[in-house]
Amino acid sequence: MIYWYAVADFIIVADRFFPSSKLCPKCGHKKNQLPLSVRVYQCDNHNCDWIADRDYSASLNLLGLAEPDVMPVEKQEPTLFD
Ligand SMILES: [Zn+2]
Repeated sequence: MIYWYAVADFIIVADRFFPSSKLCPKCGHKKNQLPLSVRVYQCDNHNCDWIADRDYSASLNLLGLAEPDVMPVEKQEPTLFD
């Protein structure tokens, strides 16, 4: 059994093409390519010193995306999937 329930009053949906893994969370520089095998994000901007785990960097970019557009949804009761 899988229980799912909302823990917030709203959810934020990122566009499927939002380049969360390719953006530098510090300066906003965007890499043209970043293969999945590369697990550390190192910014290509010579004025920026950002080096961090790829997923951590992506999470910061998604967090930054969360501010302007929010999609409110109703509070939901726990839902049971089986
Ligand atoms: Zn940078």
